[in-house]
Amino acid sequence: MRTPEARRVFNFCAGPAAIAESVLEEARADMLSYRGSGMSVMEISHRSALADDLFEEAEANLRRLLGVPKNYRVLFLQGGGSQQFSMVPMNFLRSDESAEYILTGHWGAKAIGQAGLEGTPHVAWSGEEERFVRVPENAELDLLERSAYTYFTSNETIQGVQFDAEPTGLSPLVCDASSDFLSRPVEIDRFGLLYACAQKNAGPSGLTVVIISDEMLDRTKPNLHRMFDYREHAAAGSRLNTPPMFSVYLFLLITRWIEQDMGGLSALAVHNQAKADTLYARLDRQSDFYTTHAKPTSRSIMNVTFRTPSAELDAEFLAAAKRRDLTHLAGHRSVGGMRASIYNAMPVAGVEALCELLDEFRDAHQ
Ligand code: PMP
Repeated sequence: MRTPEARRVFNFCAGPAAIAESVLEEARADMLSYRGSGMSVMEISHRSALADDLFEEAEANLRRLLGVPKNYRVLFLQGGGSQQFSMVPMNFLRSDESAEYILTGHWGAKAIGQAGLEGTPHVAWSGEEERFVRVPENAELDLLERSAYTYFTSNETIQGVQFDAEPTGLSPLVCDASSDFLSRPVEIDRFGLLYACAQKNAGPSGLTVVIISDEMLDRTKPNLHRMFDYREHAAAGSRLNTPPMFSVYLFLLITRWIEQDMGGLSALAVHNQAKADTLYARLDRQSDFYTTHAKPTSRSIMNVTFRTPSAELDAEFLAAAKRRDLTHLAGHRSVGGMRASIYNAMPVAGVEALCELLDEFRDAHQ
């Protein structure tokens, strides 16, 4: 029996997000002495043999899970998703060039802002006028004949809209996969570069994973600051400076958990889809009371955005949720309403508890 202080809640936070309890338990067991070293993983040198093993296994696990081809490099970086908004154009967008940006929500807009500091972002499609309720069909993209890359956000965390399949560009695809990374299989060879900050499905904050093709690395601009140059990080095996050891360690535990406990990415995708289907079905069944933000064809399986008939009822819903230990359900201020982030580590029981509240709240308030 847990003490009240040690109780666990169902955490629907968009990130930092829920981490599987077994992973946290394992980290706790390792806390004072990592692999018999007499030191925690936060205390060992990033140049030690233990660190070499850690980085090697983390990369090998990721390569196996995603089937990363040999001609791609895996980089463990810092600076979050936001630093990639800058690094992508700093490395690939020359001042006299354009790059395609497919704008489907909040994070894509941030990326466009940074691209404008290096060259000319060209918005190939924007969902802004429709309030970012969907992603485009490929035929809707207005693509230039020449561009440095085609950038998109596979899952917009705030609006809860997700590409079912990646778009097809005329230049190498660059993807911000921060909020659906490791939630389903992805064909890496369709991308020039794919990145994700870790704090949704892949660990605590502090780590950003970048998967980049050798061909893309060859296109990198000269004379970059070293810490912002993908080639430098690749040459240094992701240890150009002191890496976030604890975040990489948790990433390693999570890749093991995905493979060994969840059965790999294909099985996990089925599991995630089932959770999302359950939640959307419950919302749709009560569409006289709850409205979903995303159009059905673009609905995210990671971030479910919805609202009640009024802002007052939204606030009451959130309070009722909190009383049941269902936390962090408030939507982002730009969208309002609620957002249930149901990443890999959200158990079915959490989704069921939310469904129960949806029913009871509507019955009490309609
Ligand atoms: N991209 C997406 C899709 C995100 O959801 C987020 C953060 N929630 C970011 C980028 C920015 O990540 P960070 O806070 O690590 O800079």
